[in-house]
Amino acid sequence: MTKPDNSGTAAHTGSPAEPWHPATQVVHGSRDPSKTAGFVNAPVYRGSTVLFPTLDKITTRDQPFTYGRRGNPTSFELESAIAALEGGHRTILTSSGYQAVTTALLAFVEAGDNILMTDSVYQPTRAFCDKMLAKLGVTTTYYDPTLGIGLASLIKPNTRLVFTESPGSQTFEMQDIPAISTIAKAHNLWHLMDNTWASPLYFKPFQHGVDVSIQALTKYVVGHSDCMLGSVTSNARAASYVNAAKETLGTCPGSEETWLALRGLRTLDVRLARHHVSSVAIAQWLGSHPAVAKVLHPALPSHPGHALWKRDFLGSSGLFTIILHPVSRTQLAAMLDGMALFGMGYSWGGFESLIVPFDPTSYRTATRWSNHGPALRLHIGLEDVTDLKADLAAALDRLTA
Ligand SMILES: *Cc1c(COP(=O)(O)O)cnc(C)c1O
Repeated sequence: MTKPDNSGTAAHTGSPAEPWHPATQVVHGSRDPSKTAGFVNAPVYRGSTVLFPTLDKITTRDQPFTYGRRGNPTSFELESAIAALEGGHRTILTSSGYQAVTTALLAFVEAGDNILMTDSVYQPTRAFCDKMLAKLGVTTTYYDPTLGIGLASLIKPNTRLVFTESPGSQTFEMQDIPAISTIAKAHNLWHLMDNTWASPLYFKPFQHGVDVSIQALTKYVVGHSDCMLGSVTSNARAASYVNAAKETLGTCPGSEETWLALRGLRTLDVRLARHHVSSVAIAQWLGSHPAVAKVLHPALPSHPGHALWKRDFLGSSGLFTIILHPVSRTQLAAMLDGMALFGMGYSWGGFESLIVPFDPTSYRTATRWSNHGPALRLHIGLEDVTDLKADLAAALDRLTA
């Protein structure tokens, strides 16, 4: 474990100078068995009160841990591991990925500000802007995710930040993150990115000029669909803003969840490699199936954002979308109600495959969803690809049975 900083806060500084490759970093990062009686894994630290031995210590708060809400050895271990993997300066943990989004946004805005938000953003992020930020006097301008350099024309004197998510986790538009970072810097805007799809392994946000990277750790880092957790990682310039927001909002993840994320992290590299290979294989196969009108997967050469994915990303996770040719609701129900392996439910990033229908028509404002058939988002889990293809083939056959 890297030595915790003694600022009395829960946030923890990573050590980006570590010479290891990512696969080694996820296994050994922030882990020090010499401090845990030789056991490979550290225990779960639970607690509120932290005792100070002297009047001097409690007055100056001069010790690594000061109060449960402000962090414990379990949370410091995960924070420093995520900071190092993302290549950021500092990471704070939140109780969900959504809370990571809201904490990060609140860190930078004040009444009268405007923010630029990608139209492809995770839908609850949009709800936070339209309901909570609007109430606090912050306006949101939604923009076409594929704008890139054209984003500059939307910047107003009161624009404070630009928020990206690449690819969009339903509709999979790729964003030109380096170009947007250049514009953000030129206009003195913060660049916040939701980096959940790629995880900290397959996109390195700080190498591409992002100031703040958000992760729903719930997805690939936890990796087993068994708890909720989020993280906000900042560069040196942004870290004090995010930490201040975390402190004043009282953001505090549970110890058990934090420990489960650490456990998931150790196998992240090998799991993602499997998600990548399987999702590309299944996406390619679906692309030639007669019932499928379109496949939206950035790692396929047919995807309009493929060149950006190839230039900036180090791999693909298991999440993508297919559009079917138009069918009736009864036909769609026949397809989805009889799946053997693909579960129907929200979230993703676990070991298991999922399929979920969605329709973004009602909540897009800057772009139009012009597909006519049903959209289905697939998460390709760790099962055998042959079995998954058989389940999907039978399902697509039920459409016309
Ligand atoms: C799931 C998700 C979130 C929210 O994470 P929760 O842990 O479910 O709150 C945020 N952003 C993206 C892109 C997500 O997919």
